[in-house]
Amino acid sequence: MGKLTNKTAIITGASSGIGKSIAKHLAEEGAHVVLAARRSERLQQLADDVERQYNVRAKVVETDVTKRSDVENLVKETKDDFGSIDIYINNAGVMLLSFLKNDHVDEWEQMVDVNIKGVLYGVHASLPEMLKQEGGHIVNVSSVAGHEVFPSSTVYSATKYAVKALSMGMEKELSRSGVRVTNISPGAVDTELTDHITDGDVLDMFEKQEMTPLNSEDIAKAVAYAVTQPSYVNVNEVIVRPMHK
Ligand code: NDP
Repeated sequence: MGKLTNKTAIITGASSGIGKSIAKHLAEEGAHVVLAARRSERLQQLADDVERQYNVRAKVVETDVTKRSDVENLVKETKDDFGSIDIYINNAGVMLLSFLKNDHVDEWEQMVDVNIKGVLYGVHASLPEMLKQEGGHIVNVSSVAGHEVFPSSTVYSATKYAVKALSMGMEKELSRSGVRVTNISPGAVDTELTDHITDGDVLDMFEKQEMTPLNSEDIAKAVAYAVTQPSYVNVNEVIVRPMHK
């Protein structure tokens, strides 16, 4: 029997990369998983795979985390269907790296909307349910860029520092509520995240960089570790960086 049997976990950004891998790892531990993102066909494929492979239920809720009503609906559908929300993974995010001089103001707004407001909507929708249940676990996916700022990561880092600040405040405010909070900060992971970068100067810079990134699995395993600890253990901060060769 898995450590999360009969628990229900919502994972945002489950249509690819780290979120998809987290969904599989939590299902492997026995959790029912609710998969949220905009690309619902991909989510449905993952739900089918998860149900086939593990003895759990997987539900798809098409969600744009920048829309408060979508996130409220995600939590309501989960509550109606499964009766509780035990784990909420705030993973959906975009990393539209650009240099300030190139003035990608629309992309700055998009990062604020997805990376900060999306996380806040997740807290707004799930925390009241967890407080009522007197238990739950919120995992916020920040970044190493939420601990350090690099040229071209200025705005992305600002959003991930915000996620880290939210996690730190939540951890303190909720420490006696039964709701645990984990802030996880990955270094470079091989996913689709960089595919959306449009700043030519950043793309040129990337071409010259050599490094071996992590796999989504490496992060999913760390999340699975945090959410499978006994209820008195609060894993607040995890940083996972690739080794440089
Ligand atoms: P991917 O691009 O593979 O996944 C991003 C996910 O976010 C997708 O499932 C996407 O789904 C979802 N998403 C984006 N916008 C929205 C939206 N408006 N509403 C709902 N879902 C949305 O990247 P990763 O797996 O790498 O990224 C996951 C998280 O990890 C992000 O928060 C990222 O910042 C963080 N991270 C990643 C690192 C890396 O090197 N890869 C390093 C540090 C942190 P869809 O498009 O279907 O909506």
